[in-house]
Amino acid sequence: MNNLHLTNSLSKKKETFKPINPKKISLYACGPTVYDIPHVGNARSLVVFDVLFRILKALYGSNVTYVRNITDIDDKIIEVSQKKNKDIGEITNEVTKTFHDNCKSLNCLSPSIEPKATDHIKEMIEIISSLISKGFAYENQKHVYFEVNSFKDYGKLSNTNLDELKAGSRIEISNLKKNPIDFILWKPSKQKEPGWDSPWGRGRPGWHIECSAMSEKYLGKNFDIHGGGLDLIFPHHENEIAQSCCNNNLKKFANYWVHNGFLTINKEKMSKSLGNIISISDAVKKYSGQVVRLALLSAHYTQPLDWNDDLLINQEKILNKWYNIYQHKEKENNSEVEEILLDDLNTPGFIAKMHELYNEAYKGDEEKKSKFNIALKLIGLFNVSKKEWENSKKSRISVPESYILKKIDERAKAKKSGDFSLADKIRDELSSQGILIEDKKEKTMWKLK
Ligand code: AMP
Ligand code: ZN
Repeated sequence: MNNLHLTNSLSKKKETFKPINPKKISLYACGPTVYDIPHVGNARSLVVFDVLFRILKALYGSNVTYVRNITDIDDKIIEVSQKKNKDIGEITNEVTKTFHDNCKSLNCLSPSIEPKATDHIKEMIEIISSLISKGFAYENQKHVYFEVNSFKDYGKLSNTNLDELKAGSRIEISNLKKNPIDFILWKPSKQKEPGWDSPWGRGRPGWHIECSAMSEKYLGKNFDIHGGGLDLIFPHHENEIAQSCCNNNLKKFANYWVHNGFLTINKEKMSKSLGNIISISDAVKKYSGQVVRLALLSAHYTQPLDWNDDLLINQEKILNKWYNIYQHKEKENNSEVEEILLDDLNTPGFIAKMHELYNEAYKGDEEKKSKFNIALKLIGLFNVSKKEWENSKKSRISVPESYILKKIDERAKAKKSGDFSLADKIRDELSSQGILIEDKKEKTMWKLK
């Protein structure tokens, strides 16, 4: 069998994966900040690292530890709690519950450990104290900062040039810092804000120290693979490296850094700040978890993936076809097509191969069908029986998609010609059929009510 290859953001190259200890494989992926409903951009990260976890398990069995944290303390959470006048715990519990429901719909395996940041404040305080005593961090008026100039490798992961960084707008200005590029490790909390006692007064940790503390606790000072979306390379992952390498006197923190590309809408990154998000719950309700999962795997993880109804409709058609030869399989054996995934999680290549296998299996014997089923299960598809699949289709949609698109088109034409009462009538008609339409920047989208 071939070795696993991964694109390592450290070297910007595809490398052979060599574990530190094959009996103790370690994977850490940055989990969600639980302040708002998870969107399909977050789902991409979830599904990519779920596939990686599945492949590692296929290769190394039960010797794989996958840690995915929950960030349940962060300025954004405090902001939402103040805006909604809701208790922080209430918000984080609600969002965490939705997140877990979404993971289940997408058929993601549970990680081995799912630590919450607020359960690890003691570990964070220990690392921060140690960084201060070793001369890598300093306190100023109850704030603690990491001194970036004390770490000579700073910027290597993200190719960030410190001089350019100083001149840019990506850094938070504060006169408490020795240098504008220094970043926060600990900050004081106002009375109403959540806080923990520390040597620097009542306060809370910065976001980056959370992952340094949790990864070290569960995977050790130096571990195999660290993952997350492309947006986390700078500053989050760069800062994690700085904290952990300086504190533990290490050349390397994680050996392989794996980053998924962006999920976009009209070529723009999907993000809460741009207001172009589609929640995982809505996407799954409209198309089902399997269709969403297959769509997320349709592009290579290092590449961008543009999200639109056509993509999803296509994936639904594919699954409809594939379900023609669904078999109930209790046992998931290793599959020959696993090799394709070993090559840097080549999911588009894998899917292309599945089309080939389908054509052979459809006309072929039970064994060929069996191989096809085993392979699909390897990437987390075919997790519901044919009957459930057919039933879920019925509950998802009462009218054909083509009808909805036709109506949307008619409404657009009515609006264009100034016939707003017709446009409203069409919208109301769709609404009575359980379909909500929303006018986005360039396109009208639809979802189930
Ligand atoms: P957050 O809750 O925003 O910290 O994000 C959780 C994970 O989702 C991180 O790994 C992010 O990098 C990833 N992520 C967020 N938005 C996108 C997007 N549009 N495309 C791909 N990954 C994303
Ligand atoms: Zn992180």
